[in-house]
Amino acid sequence: MTESIMNPVAIVTGASRGLGAAIARALASKGYNLVLTYRSGASEAELVKSQCEAAFSNIQVVLVAADISLEEDCKHIVEVAKETFGRVDVLVNNAGMTRDGLAMRMSREQFTSVIDTNLTGAFSTSSLCLPIMVKQRKGRIINISSVSGVYGNAGQANYSASKAGLIGMTKSMAKEVAKRNITVNAVAPGFIETDMTDALGEETKKAAMERIPMARFGKPEDVANVVAFLASEESAYVTGQVIEVSGGLVI
Ligand code: NAP
Repeated sequence: MTESIMNPVAIVTGASRGLGAAIARALASKGYNLVLTYRSGASEAELVKSQCEAAFSNIQVVLVAADISLEEDCKHIVEVAKETFGRVDVLVNNAGMTRDGLAMRMSREQFTSVIDTNLTGAFSTSSLCLPIMVKQRKGRIINISSVSGVYGNAGQANYSASKAGLIGMTKSMAKEVAKRNITVNAVAPGFIETDMTDALGEETKKAAMERIPMARFGKPEDVANVVAFLASEESAYVTGQVIEVSGGLVI
């Protein structure tokens, strides 16, 4: 029996880059064994795995290729966690995508593809992890929503709906499992420096910057630190909440 078997276990979806990669590194530095998922970025995921292993001496990190919009892939992620580690203490539903456009020109497929990944994917992984957490009488689910899901954003009817849906799901699940020592919370980032915001035009970035009281975009670590807190014992009495990490974007 290796010592790593005593470590708590976290699943982080979409951990090949951006926020997911930073969340994986933050949890690694706290001694979690990790199941990290990615969709297409196998080499990026390998790099994150080695960064995590370097962050803490005795953790085990497993990579799983999975498209979170597919139920069988979600089942596979949770199966790997169960078979490798025998438990799941923390689930971070981070994988997400955008397919922006004005609602009047948005196809139904453009709408549902974003919902399938950002919302239904998180539902699947959560509903599959909850029975394990209930049995353990311990668990943390952290959903990465967005300020778009709280306040709306022109051009993001699909994305905002998925992220607002995550908030509703967070609150409902929190009520369902609170008595079982399981907390469910959401983090709503504002503008964070990742590939997702890199894709925004210069005009949009400039306009966004003018609305941020802290006058800077966030770093992935700004979000990862909040996720690490919500994963920890220190947040035991926090559930059903949405924590904005946005430099004060909306005060
Ligand atoms: P990102 O750089 O675009 O990374 C997205 C991650 O999700 C990648 O690891 C990607 O995997 C994975 N992914 C995308 N679609 C997937 C699918 N169908 N199945 C499995 N994995 C999938 O995004 P990010 O900026 O880090 O964002 C992470 C989360 O934070 C998202 O939920 C996003 O909506 C949310 N968020 C971000 C910001 C921001 O400013 N960056 C603000 C608010 C909320 P591959 O690369 O391997 O395909």
